[in-house]
Amino acid sequence: MIKTVLLDIDNTLLDFNQSAKLTMQKAFDELGLQYRDEVFETFLRVNDILWKKIERREMTRQELHAVRWWTVFGELGLNADGDKMERLFLDNLQDFAVPIDGALDLVKYLSGKYAVFTASNAPYAQQVKRLTISGIKPYVKGILNFEAIGVHKPQPQFFEECLKALSPAKKEEIALIGDSLSADMEGGKSVGFTTIWFNYAGSDTAATDICDYVVNSLSEITNIL
Ligand SMILES: [Mg+2]
Repeated sequence: MIKTVLLDIDNTLLDFNQSAKLTMQKAFDELGLQYRDEVFETFLRVNDILWKKIERREMTRQELHAVRWWTVFGELGLNADGDKMERLFLDNLQDFAVPIDGALDLVKYLSGKYAVFTASNAPYAQQVKRLTISGIKPYVKGILNFEAIGVHKPQPQFFEECLKALSPAKKEEIALIGDSLSADMEGGKSVGFTTIWFNYAGSDTAATDICDYVVNSLSEITNIL
């Protein structure tokens, strides 16, 4: 029987893609650069490749910050300072928190039945601010993240530390909801949580054995929990 629900934040509760788009538009303005849709598409592609490397422990977070915008600018043929853009991007990202459809209703509902926690690979202060802006924070009992734990999802150690923090809840009593098959579903399954995959990107990937449930909208979760 589930007692505790662990929620991923980006592209599960908050729309990282929309927040990132607003952030880069503002930063481009400040740098006097012309924003175009291709910037966002290129960023998403580069960011995803780099984050997958972090998940596989082939890259550190510091290395990502050092190369991310230089790579994006390089691919776009833009002569601009990638370090400056990275700093502006990180500084401004915490001011944008666009909730996913139904996110606030979901956490209200879940917090009435379960202990609700978040589990994220993003910095603690940034996520506290974004959860506050979006009105979600009052419904969350605790924010578990890579800074406190020292490693990123999907490393088993991340989820083992979550398990300790959620004690006395046992692994059988914990459900994990997230959009990433690699970071959330694979990681959560490896320690024995019940996994609910939120198909944020509308992917046609068939449900795999690492997902106990698959939902295409957050409102469907009330049929499961
Ligand atoms: Mg996510």
